[in-house]
Amino acid sequence: MKQSETTVIHGFLDNRIFGIISGIAGEMGVRAFVIGGYVRDCFLGRQGKDIDIVVEGSGIELAEAVAAAVGSKVSVFRNFGTAMLKYKGMEVEFVGARKESYRRDSRKPLVENGTLEDDQLRRDFTINAMAFSLQKEDFGALVDPFGGIRDLAAGIIRTPLDPDTTYSDDPLRMIRAIRFATKLSDGQRQFTIVPESLESIRRNRGRLSILSRERIAEELNKILVCARPSTGFRLLDETGLLELILPQLVSLKGTENVDGHCHKENFSHTLEVVDNVASAELQAIAGGCLKDYVNVDGVEEERPRTAPNVWLRWAALLHDIGKPATKRFDKASGWTFHGHEVVGARMVPGIFKSLRMPLNEKMKYVGKLVLLHLRPIALVTEEVTDSAVRRLLFDAGNDIDDLMLLCNADITSKNPRKVERLKKNFALVSRKLAEVEEKDAIRNFKNPVTGEYIMELYGIPPCRQIGELKEYVKNAILDGAIGNDFEAADRLLREKAAEMGLVPVK
Ligand code: ATP
Ligand code: MG
Repeated sequence: MKQSETTVIHGFLDNRIFGIISGIAGEMGVRAFVIGGYVRDCFLGRQGKDIDIVVEGSGIELAEAVAAAVGSKVSVFRNFGTAMLKYKGMEVEFVGARKESYRRDSRKPLVENGTLEDDQLRRDFTINAMAFSLQKEDFGALVDPFGGIRDLAAGIIRTPLDPDTTYSDDPLRMIRAIRFATKLSDGQRQFTIVPESLESIRRNRGRLSILSRERIAEELNKILVCARPSTGFRLLDETGLLELILPQLVSLKGTENVDGHCHKENFSHTLEVVDNVASAELQAIAGGCLKDYVNVDGVEEERPRTAPNVWLRWAALLHDIGKPATKRFDKASGWTFHGHEVVGARMVPGIFKSLRMPLNEKMKYVGKLVLLHLRPIALVTEEVTDSAVRRLLFDAGNDIDDLMLLCNADITSKNPRKVERLKKNFALVSRKLAEVEEKDAIRNFKNPVTGEYIMELYGIPPCRQIGELKEYVKNAILDGAIGNDFEAADRLLREKAAEMGLVPVK
């Protein structure tokens, strides 16, 4: 290990918490350091909201003493030897410095107490292994044994040890490397994984088998919420990891040519759509135009969206996943993917299950968006009737804005005239949606006549007729034959029920 630098950087540790930790660690006679993401983000000019503190001693004891001093609660995780406290909206995590050794069949290392140097050696990347001293005598000094600063300036992701050892010991680091390359790159600087490291990831990709699917999905989610997720998915593909994680996505690759007809390259198209969704969503969030609907004690509450919705990104990633299975060549119409939205929506549960992702309303939302992703644009090729718009609103419900965002992001044609026409039509559908919603409030449509009401009115038990009557009334409202109100619905219900031979009991 190289001699650590002793530059003291002013300004990064102005937060009062660092002085407090420094004082208490001094009294306890242990050395403490800020380490990892917080240090890296300081140099990138980003404000991290989590602080990691490493202590040559007990992380839990130091955390408890600091918590007592600042009057905050501490959460202790004895199994991991860590403790966390909140200070003015920041999460401060304490851990004892460790020395690790790995076994072949597990990413759980054998852990012993160690020094700062031991601890830095077990970190994943040079840019994540930098530390600031919290000792009184050199408060704020940068301890950077592997040239993290140099790599940060050059936009390089490199492991402190031999990459084969680093990745084989804990294969999660392979996906983390890709995550950091995606997350840290921006308009000004591109982060790249050094070639030896990329080759090593390719070589060690089989080690992924010792990871739990949940951990893999967690990393994928972090890549998806980045500003340009395509960077990560291209790297996952190039290293052969994607084939192991999401083979269905790899099946989208390639084009085929028959009689001079070539279809779209669906892998690149998909990644372009994911990026489009990411930037449109970020813009909409900044403009305060998107809402989330959360269930609080059974009541739905509307909140402005403040952070990316990872499930919308999943919907973008999977929107064309049914294309390989539905691809046909027809002499008259060329390449077609008829029904790919239906097949794609049906594939969603299997994909979610394979990655141990939630099989709840999040999965249903993704399936629904995949199923409906062609509907808004299909509307414009026909006449945009109020009835068609009402049905779309009814089917999409509160997810209509996300669906429209996805549908707009799906316009990736390279033909400017086609793009202009589609965007114009799309704007027309958006306007029409707003008009119809304003007039008829279909988005939260609830049938004004319920099953209970019908059973009571006619004194009948649950039966098929009830479903038929409800459906009849619903269709009349969506078709605009009657208004969306109880009186009109009740009148129509009674007419139809009389035709069916039903007589009210009261
Ligand atoms: P983020 O801003 O995304 O949270 P971070 O660098 O803080 O970035 P974390 O996952 O929170 O990332 O981890 C904190 C630190 O712990 C990292 O900077 C790194 O030093 C170390 N670390 C985390 N996971 C690993 C791992 N699997 N192998 C080695 N070191 C790791
Ligand atoms: Mg962190």
